[in-house]
Amino acid sequence: MKKNIKPIIMALSAVFAMGIAGQARADAQHPKIGFSIDDLRVERWARDRDYFTAAAKALGATVYVQSADASEQRQIAQIENLISRGVDVIAIVPFNATVMTNAVKEAKKAGIKVISYDRLILNADVDAYISFDNEKVGELQATEVVKHQPKGNYFLLGGSPTDNNAKLLRAGQLKVLQPLIDKGDIKVVGQQWVKEWSPTEALSIVENALTANANKIDAIVASNDGTAGGAIQALAAQKLAGKVPVSGQDADLAAVRRVVAGTQTMTVYKPIKLIATEAAKLSIDLVRGKQINYNTQYDNGFKKVNTILLKPIVMTKDNVGMLVKDGFYTQAQIDGR
Ligand code: BGC
Repeated sequence: MKKNIKPIIMALSAVFAMGIAGQARADAQHPKIGFSIDDLRVERWARDRDYFTAAAKALGATVYVQSADASEQRQIAQIENLISRGVDVIAIVPFNATVMTNAVKEAKKAGIKVISYDRLILNADVDAYISFDNEKVGELQATEVVKHQPKGNYFLLGGSPTDNNAKLLRAGQLKVLQPLIDKGDIKVVGQQWVKEWSPTEALSIVENALTANANKIDAIVASNDGTAGGAIQALAAQKLAGKVPVSGQDADLAAVRRVVAGTQTMTVYKPIKLIATEAAKLSIDLVRGKQINYNTQYDNGFKKVNTILLKPIVMTKDNVGMLVKDGFYTQAQIDGR
């Protein structure tokens, strides 16, 4: 009797393996992707969602999108929901970089691949990271502001303290500013992180900074267009809009109009179609076990995460036309017609 057990076990395990492989093949043909976005109320993320979903569909996948609306509890609950739906891969734009360790662990335990989208998830076993080069974005922001205002009192308006990008942006900004600070050309009269990247929070921070400095602020390095909008509103109330250079990023429509009008010095154009399309492909390639071309690695405290880093483009009055060429906006949208 005992002698016959081995072939039976072998046969059973072959059937089992086929079952798993069959299952994997079915999943790989029509992967299910979860896309957990921090905050769809912010202009750019709706574009990420739309391009990502379209690109994934074209590759045979189905996408389930969730927006956490700047709540870490909601985001964790939504990720748990995606796990129980049996998705094959989850792309996450984390609201809070530091609280995802367990959610990622759960996903990985269930055999789900995890991608960190645009923002790096810290201290977690993520499979891949894809983003624009955020340090470079910070450098571009400071460089343009310095071109307009090489000396004087600077205010640094940082991003959300829970977003790892906010720190990378600041590092890039300081690469440009620190030598000028050391030389005494630039004096940083204040710096603050803006909770949840909120434009209204940015408005009140800059209002207070203007009051505290008797309006003697010569330049504002703002980390994105939403917060730049708040800063420029505060400047406008003091008749300083257009006189004080202000940076941004995202090429939000309102910001592009401000750049054209001269109240915002620059923005950074990050072709969202590119990151969303690449991320959809990356998600599916991970599920299908294909070879992926990463171009760098980022240490997230748990491991060196394989990363695809894309190039941001500096945008001033001189090259906003690129947005029309790229189909990001129509000329009529920019003109407000
Ligand atoms: C993104 C920016 C965005 C900001 C606020 C950052 O992590 O890189 O493009 O403006 O979050 O949503």
